[in-house]
Amino acid sequence: PEPSPGPPELQMRDIFIAIKTTRAFHRSRLELLLDTWVSRTREQTFVFTDSRDEGVQERLGPHLVVTNCSAEHSHPALSCKMAAEFDAFLASGRRWFCHVDDDNYVNPPALLQLLATFAPGRDVYVGRPSLNRPIHASEPRPRNGTRLVQFWFATGGAGFCINRKLALKMAPWASGPRFVNTSALIQLPDDCTVGYIVECKLGGHLQPSPLFHSHLETLQLLGVAQLREQVTLSYGVFEGKLNVIKLQGPFSPEEDPSRFRSLHCLLFPETPWCPQLVAR
Ligand code: UDP
Ligand code: MN
Repeated sequence: PEPSPGPPELQMRDIFIAIKTTRAFHRSRLELLLDTWVSRTREQTFVFTDSRDEGVQERLGPHLVVTNCSAEHSHPALSCKMAAEFDAFLASGRRWFCHVDDDNYVNPPALLQLLATFAPGRDVYVGRPSLNRPIHASEPRPRNGTRLVQFWFATGGAGFCINRKLALKMAPWASGPRFVNTSALIQLPDDCTVGYIVECKLGGHLQPSPLFHSHLETLQLLGVAQLREQVTLSYGVFEGKLNVIKLQGPFSPEEDPSRFRSLHCLLFPETPWCPQLVAR
């Protein structure tokens, strides 16, 4: 008899990518992503926002998810969006859930390559640790008690991924209204809540990866060769200065302040709007 085949090789379509955004950032942030990396991951990328937008709807169709979450920067509002992302992933049947913010660039081949390294039988929660030590929280216990807990979590602003095996185990604390309740219980933001569920409720562990990046690190330190290998990148303002990756071009900082358009042309030079090399 033939040896029983293992799970088929991981493909892009096995990954569910959720982008969190809000009304105020549809023009200023989301469109940049749609023009760049999302153009290569349309089939598996879903955008979670809080307000209707005909322009974005036209570009994304059913891949735009207008949640009932409020458009504010509060723990409950942000956890509400994470819950919507998680539920949509569970319903999708895909093998991996990846969350990113609307100021992240995702390098699709690098993402696929990373996720393909994990043995299928494992529980996986992979991302960049937010701090260099575990965070502490107090967990309410029955009869007015509390328990001090500590756990690692991946910064939401750098993106993170969870495989289906682990996500299914998380459901009792994360599906439907439970995620918002869990977040309220420990009074911490959505990304911390994910870490709490994985580490404190399930005894799992964050698998740290240096390939995920938020704008809380000095992004200029990455060299061009390294840029190609990173799974996520970001941009933002830090201490009044623009914190962006260092790239010569092809676009100027004025045309491309985030540097995402230049990065996209470095990774995918065949893109129609990238300056084409002159044929000789
Ligand atoms: N965000 C949101 N609602 C808000 C503000 C922000 O959903 O009221 C989202 C935003 O679109 C982004 C993430 O939360 O995906 C983080 O926001 P931002 O980058 O502005 O803040 P940071 O926490 O990185 O400083
Ligand atoms: Mn940000």
